[in-house]
Amino acid sequence: MVNYSELVQRQREFFLQGKTKDLSFRQAALNKLLSLIKNHEQDIMDSLKKDLNKSEFDSYLTEIGIILEEIRFTLKNLHKWSRPRRVKTTLTGIGSKSYIYSEPYGVTLIISPWNYPFQLAIAPLIGAIAAGNCVILKPSELTPHTSKLLSKLITDHFQEEFITVIEGGIETSNALLNEKTDYIFFTGSVPVGKIVMEAAAKHLTPVTLELGGKSPCIIHKDANLKLAAKRVAWGKFTNAGQTCIAPDYLMVHSEIKDEFLPLLKDAITELYGSNPLANKEFTKIISERHFNRLTSFLENGKNYSGGKFNPDTLVIEPTILDDISWDDSVMQDEIFGPILPVLEYEELSSLINQVNHRPKPLSLYIFSESVEVQKEILDRISFGGGCINDTVYHFSSPYLPFGGVGDSGIGAYHGKGSFDVFSHEKGILKQTTKFDLPFRYPNTKNALKKI
Ligand code: NAD
Repeated sequence: MVNYSELVQRQREFFLQGKTKDLSFRQAALNKLLSLIKNHEQDIMDSLKKDLNKSEFDSYLTEIGIILEEIRFTLKNLHKWSRPRRVKTTLTGIGSKSYIYSEPYGVTLIISPWNYPFQLAIAPLIGAIAAGNCVILKPSELTPHTSKLLSKLITDHFQEEFITVIEGGIETSNALLNEKTDYIFFTGSVPVGKIVMEAAAKHLTPVTLELGGKSPCIIHKDANLKLAAKRVAWGKFTNAGQTCIAPDYLMVHSEIKDEFLPLLKDAITELYGSNPLANKEFTKIISERHFNRLTSFLENGKNYSGGKFNPDTLVIEPTILDDISWDDSVMQDEIFGPILPVLEYEELSSLINQVNHRPKPLSLYIFSESVEVQKEILDRISFGGGCINDTVYHFSSPYLPFGGVGDSGIGAYHGKGSFDVFSHEKGILKQTTKFDLPFRYPNTKNALKKI
């Protein structure tokens, strides 16, 4: 049994030695991470298969490939990001120079979820290492194979004082949250996000909260419907809908709904076959609790397509529910499964009003060929991030900040954002000693004499 107070203390002592701040140390650690992931690709894919029945294609695309790219991008830019940045000085500061120094926080705690158990544990770890921190990583207890592998890989390749993985569930999470760490990066649900923030407040520890919510996907009447159908089907049903930024529900313009839904049904068949329950590559639902929660939604509205499920394998086929209203149970909380409710709208202003009266979404997707429609939605609805004429893809760019707003989270990461999240920006003014301007002193004559 690990004593968490001692662990934090050991990491803090190690951090204070200053080694993790060396650029070469950070680069070496990232290179080591890169090669150990490359050398264990098959082990990672096997664990993901056992935990979630993820296909190798999905595991590579959404868990491994994306991480390898993020490490390469970080390595390429780290020397530039970590240099002190010279900034302007005001006229009254004449003679002085101003700099921003990025410094690591110290001992950081990363708590990650089960839905992309490898990627969502390692992505923040990259930022934490890049910025020069020590890390305690707590992966999800619901994906034991991946969590165990993470623990083994990290233990075998990094010293515990620098990075360590602590496996465990809620109790472990709470015990770690009780310790005073210097930064907490949490990815998970909104209710647990509140628990994390409350625990952090006791120590005044800053947090990033990457949370969830209901992400709308709008299909306007002028959209390229065939392409929209394909991109919605992929974004929604990859990982059986257990993606924080999956389109949670569709808002389809009433004029094109009858044309769009058959296209969506065809796109699903093209991706997963006519009997997805028999598709050995289709991701399962993580637990019986979530399976039961999801199947209870199947009573809502009218079943347009799908709707079959297998309690033995915990698979639910991609399902479209039509004639849904905001009062239905499926519209109360984030769905996080392969069920796609469809709502209709006629006026854009009414759609905007409906979304704006609910918690701010993590993502939003707009399918429309009209720049005015795109602009109106972007201008009037606040949400974490998203795509125009696509779904989910914004997540893969290291140039775009990724995070929520309001109920969907606090802070953003990816690319330089990950480095920034794990760095404190120290503002430093370097003053000249060659002269001393008198204006600031109450008695100017005396001040000039002192030089
Ligand atoms: P969760 O909040 O149940 O668990 C996340 C982590 O918190 C796990 O490591 C878990 O052990 C721990 N935890 C759970 N309950 C806790 C408690 N009471 N006290 C302290 N720690 C606790 O989330 P989940 O079910 O693993 O993941 C699904 C949720 O995560 C969805 O809401 C999804 O939208 C969200 N999510 C967000 C992102 C994002 O990047 N914004 C990414 C993936 C998932």
